[in-house]
Amino acid sequence: MKPAPFDHVRATSVEHAVAVLAENADSARVLAGGQSLIPLLATRRAQPSLLVDINGLAELSYLRVDDGHLEIGALTRNRLIETSPVTADAAPLIVEALHHSGHVTIRNRSTIGGSASYAHPAGENPVALLTLGASVVLTGPTGRRVVPVGDFFRGPHLTSAAPDELLTAVRIPVSPPGTRVAVAELARRHGDFAVVAVLSALRLDDSGRITAASIGIGGAGPTPLRAFAAEQLLVGEHPSDELVRAAGAAAAAVVDPPSDVHAPAAYRRRVTDVMTQRSLMRALSPAERTSAA
Ligand SMILES: Cc1cc2nc3c(=O)[nH]c(=O)nc-3n(C[C@H](O)[C@H](O)[C@H](O)COP(=O)(O)OP(=O)(O)OC[C@H]3O[C@@H](n4cnc5c(N)ncnc54)[C@H](O)[C@@H]3O)c2cc1C
Repeated sequence: MKPAPFDHVRATSVEHAVAVLAENADSARVLAGGQSLIPLLATRRAQPSLLVDINGLAELSYLRVDDGHLEIGALTRNRLIETSPVTADAAPLIVEALHHSGHVTIRNRSTIGGSASYAHPAGENPVALLTLGASVVLTGPTGRRVVPVGDFFRGPHLTSAAPDELLTAVRIPVSPPGTRVAVAELARRHGDFAVVAVLSALRLDDSGRITAASIGIGGAGPTPLRAFAAEQLLVGEHPSDELVRAAGAAAAAVVDPPSDVHAPAAYRRRVTDVMTQRSLMRALSPAERTSAA
C-alpha cells in the first residue's frame, strides 16, 4: 500500500508552521521524526492532504536548564536527550524511559515533541513526563500557552492541542539531587510498546524514610496514569516488602485497562501490580540511577 497523495511544506520558522497549520487546520499534520506518522501514512490510517515539515527548525532543537526546569525543544531527537549528561543530571527518569522507547535507530530520528503529540497510552516518554509533573508548551496563532501534561493527554493518540497549535517544548521540573528512578515493564520484545510500564521516582531521607514518591503507569488506561493512592502509602514510611506489595495492590486498584489483542484487562491489572512492585524495588536498590548529588 502507498500513502494517499499529500502536499509537503517545509516550515521556515515556528510562525510559518503555525500560519500554515491555521490555514489548513482540518487537513494538515506536523511531520517531526516521522517514526509514527510515516507508517500511519503508508497504511492509510492517516490521510492528511498536507504535511508541515518542521525538521528544518533548528530553533526547536535544544536542551537547557532554566528556572528549575529542564526545557527540551520539541524537535530534539530522543537519542540526543537519552545520551545527554544534562538529562542524566536533571531528569534521569527520562533517560531510563528512553532506553525502553523503541530502538536506537528509531530514537535517532524520533523527537520529544512527536512522542508527546503521538500520545500513545503505553509510550514511556508520555508516562515519564506525567510522572515528573512536566508541562508542554503549545504555540498557536495567538501566542504560547503552557499545559500540564495531565491536562494534555486526553485519550489514545488524543491531546488538548488545537489543530493550529505546534508543540514547541516540554518543561520538566528538575529532579532534586538523589532522586531514585526506575522503569519496569512487560513488553513482548525489547523496544516494543509495553503491555504495561510502571515508572517511579523516589526520594529518601538520611534515615531511609521515603519523603517523596511519584509513580506513573502506561498501558493500563486510555492515557498515562498516576498512582496517587500508592504514592500516598509510601510517603513517610521506611521501605519494606509489605509496603511495596501494598503499593502494587493500590496501583492495580486504580487502573481501568482495556482488553485488546495484546492482553485482556484482568491481565493488564495483574501486571500493573507486579510491575509497580518491580519498579519500586529497583528504585529502592542502592545500585539504581539517581539524579546528580
Ligand atoms: C517500531 C517502533 C517501535 C516503537 N516503540 C516505541 C516504544 O516502545 N515506546 C514509545 O514511547 N514509542 C515507541 N515508538 C514511537 C516513537 O517513539 C515515535 O517515533 C514517537 O512517538 C513519535 O515521534 P516522531 O518525532 O517520530 O513523530 P512523528 O511520527 O513525526 O509524529 C507523530 C505525531 O505527532 C504529531 N507531531 C509531531 N511533532 C509535533 C509537534 N511538534 N507539534 C504538534 N504535533 C506534532 C504528528 O503530526 C503526528 O500526528 C516506536 C516506533 C516504532 C516505529
